[in-house]
Amino acid sequence: MLTESESEELKKRLEADLGRLVANAHSAIGFTMDRDRDRIGRDSMDESTEEELYSTQLRLHDRENFLIAKIQEALKRLHNGEIDECEECSEPIGFKRLMARPVTTLCFECKTAREQVEADDAGE
Ligand SMILES: [Zn+2]
Repeated sequence: MLTESESEELKKRLEADLGRLVANAHSAIGFTMDRDRDRIGRDSMDESTEEELYSTQLRLHDRENFLIAKIQEALKRLHNGEIDECEECSEPIGFKRLMARPVTTLCFECKTAREQVEADDAGE
């Protein structure tokens, strides 16, 4: 179990990361919209252009959205007191590891073992 001050520190860390990602996502969306409005004119946006814009935004924000969702999950686990519990072996995940990788759901041993099986980088 994390101590109260460790939980607090981790929460601040997650909320800071989340705030930064959300701010990035918003400024990138603003940029895309402004640029395309300048090019095509605000009133001439038809449906297909809007769809195009939308898919551009999705591509731009896949990574951000993915990370935002991971952080929101981590905050939920923190709230439920589960954040330092490895989802694989239920052993506690060390506070240092959590501060380095706040969105992780695996202890170091399980993460290492999993990486040997699949070369899948799930946001870590
Ligand atoms: Zn584990």
